[in-house]
Formats: sequence, C-alpha cells, structure tokens
Amino acid sequence: METETKKRTGMYENVMRQFNRAADVLGLDEGIRKILGSTNSEIVVHFPVKLDNGKIEVFNGYRVQHNNALGPYKGGLRFHPTVDIDAARALAIWMTWKTALAGLPYGGGKGGVTIDPSKYSAAELERITRRFTYALGDNIGPDVDIPAPDVNTNPQIMAWIADTFASTKSPATRMLNLHVVTGKPLGSGGLEGRDRATGFGVVVTIKEWAKLNNIDLAGKTYIVQGFGNVGYWASHFMEELGAKLIAVQDASGAIYNKDGINPEELDAYAKQYKGAVAGFPSASRMEAEDFFGVDCDIIIPAALGNQITMDNAHVIKASLIAEGANGPTDTVAEDFLLEKGVKIIPDILCNSGGVIGSYYEWLQNKRSENWKIADVLHLLEDKISIAFNKVVETSDSFNTDWRTGAYMVALSRIEQTYKERGVFP
Ligand code: GLU
Repeated sequence: METETKKRTGMYENVMRQFNRAADVLGLDEGIRKILGSTNSEIVVHFPVKLDNGKIEVFNGYRVQHNNALGPYKGGLRFHPTVDIDAARALAIWMTWKTALAGLPYGGGKGGVTIDPSKYSAAELERITRRFTYALGDNIGPDVDIPAPDVNTNPQIMAWIADTFASTKSPATRMLNLHVVTGKPLGSGGLEGRDRATGFGVVVTIKEWAKLNNIDLAGKTYIVQGFGNVGYWASHFMEELGAKLIAVQDASGAIYNKDGINPEELDAYAKQYKGAVAGFPSASRMEAEDFFGVDCDIIIPAALGNQITMDNAHVIKASLIAEGANGPTDTVAEDFLLEKGVKIIPDILCNSGGVIGSYYEWLQNKRSENWKIADVLHLLEDKISIAFNKVVETSDSFNTDWRTGAYMVALSRIEQTYKERGVFP
C-alpha cells in the first residue's frame, strides 16, 4: 500500500493529451484553449481529526474547481490513497467535459481525501467527513460547487456533508442548503434511482452501441473490473438484457466462471466482506494479470483510472470497452486498441448517468418535489441516448474516434458560451 500510495496515477497527463487532441481537431480558439487548459481554483486543506483511540491524525483533502462557464462546479469526492492534487485536477477536468456533453448547467469539480477508508471505523469516517466539509467552508454550496459520491463515498457520507454544511448556516437558511450535495439517502432529499444511475447509464450506452451494430446483447459475455456501485448496477442491468457476466476483478482478486456469475449473488456475497469479491463460491479464482485477456465481448472497467495500459492492451479480446470508471484507458493503449478495431465508449459519455441523476436530484430539491424512479430512469435514458447519438454523429463527420468526438461536442458548447459572454473585464 505504501508504494501504491506514492505512485502517481498519470491521469492528469492522460486528460490533457485527450483535450489537446480534440482541441486540435476542433481548431479550438487559442484563448479558450488556455482557459480550459488550466483549473480555476484548487483548494487544499489539512484538517485534524480525533481517532477512536484518542490520538489526533491530520488528513489531506482536495477540491479542484476546473471551470464553471456553464454553471456551478459539479463532481464527486473520493476517499482513496491515490487522491492527490493531480488526480483531483484530472477528475475535475473530466467533469467539465462530462457535464457539458450531457447538456447540464454545470461546470466541473472533483476532490477527496487521501485515505484508505477500510482502516477507519464508521465513527471516525463520520468525523473525517464532517471536518473535511467544515474545512471546505463556503468553497462548496448549492449554487457554487456541488459534490457527490465517487470512489469509496456513499449516500451516508453525503448526508453527513449536507448536515455539516447546513449546520454551519444561520437557522433561517439552514434547510435551504441540503442540495449542497447530491447522491444523498432518500430520507435526506435523495433521488429515487440516483443509486443506480451510473450503472444504468453505462448499460444505456452499451444498448446504443448494440443498436448501431445490429447486435443482440442476449447471450453476449462481459467482464467487470470493480464491483462497487457502478460495477454492480451495470451488471444488474446487463443481466436483465440476458448478457452473461463471466469474470470480475477488484482489489481483493479476480474470479471467473464461463457459465456465468449471478450479479445479485455476488453482490450479496461481497457485502459480507467489505465489498470484496475474492472467495465467491460460485466462481473460480483467476490471476489478476489474466483478467483483461478473458475471452469476452464487452469489458466494463468500473474501478480506477489507468487500468488499461500497454501492459495489458495486447491481450484484450473484447470488441467493446464501456468506461464505467473515470479515465480507465491510457491514451497510448487507446490508440493501440482503436487500431485493432476495439470500440471504446468514453467515460465522459459512458458514466455520465451518475451526474445526470445528480442533476435531477438537485432539481428535485430546488423545487421541493419527490420524483418517481420510473420517470427518473426514463429521463436518464433519453438524455444519454441523445448525447450518444451526438457523439457518433460528430465522430463520423470528423472521421475521428468516439472520445475525440465526445470532447468536441463538449468543447464546442463551452467555446460558444465564452464567445457569447466574453472574458471579464
Ligand atoms: N462521481 C460521479 C462522476 O464521476 C458523479 C458526479 C456527480 O454526480 O456530481 O461522474
């Protein structure tokens, strides 16, 4: 874990290479390129928390606000040892493209705490979350910057953030602040369906790919890296379509069953072991390094960034990679895979269901309403399908890959805003 902690993720270099490539094809205005090539603000906080044993520990927290030309900053907070300023920058930048591509009135932000949450008790995590929120102060807010769940953060953590943020406001305005975060539990202003929104959206994009290629997903095989919120829900909806999950990998190891792994059974099993899939009785263990080489039709990376690199790209047999995670494919590996004819549904499109769900939660809170899950899923499917088709159309007309096409749609929207409004003063 020590070396893992210190190893840089390389995501920042990746996002900048993707950006520069798309900006070149688009011929993005030089000034706007400079604006979008840097982040608006970067908040770094060091905050003390008393642990259960009475000792004090100081934690490092981050919130990077990349760009807010289209609206308040929006994006998750992750609790993970790999969180550092560069990771937060990269992830914030991806959020700007993601929200712009989906046509949401948001900019991009991201942050988190450098921590392995499995090493702390629930009470410690609550104090860490509350003290981090307090340290961020008014840098976040319902119309300023709206965090959400990401790796290792969940509705409970969002409820603590909302409560802490609201508790620091005057009694008269306290309850107007709950939508400072999205992804909250249902009793605290959460949206029905937000829990499954990212995984559902991943499957919407896979269905669109299948439709485009006249492919029947029933009986198709797929593998999933990471069995957290995104990996589980994506598998749940793939199962509904009759597709077969044959391998899963996470930090605990990799498991394989050519006859299929039932996502619901795996979820029930993993819940007993802090989310770990290793040891699942209805599958056999496989070497983690063989995971991406599994003979299957679709790969859903739903864990961390830079997982598909030149170390494993050559063993990939799947014809589609649907990026449930942010930044799972390194740009060099991507070029190699595209050359081989592998299609990649880019993260900023593929996993945009999460932030789109967040947008509906935010609207629900602003309007003091309670939305129904069927309506939420319907709206989500619609919005993601529109974005998917726009990406395909743009990629086709510029003869470029889907990621570059997705960036071009996002960048053009932001460019238009800057051109209309100008740069103050
Ligand atoms: N963390 C998710 C993402 O990377 C969701 C962000 C949000 O809902 O604001 O897209």
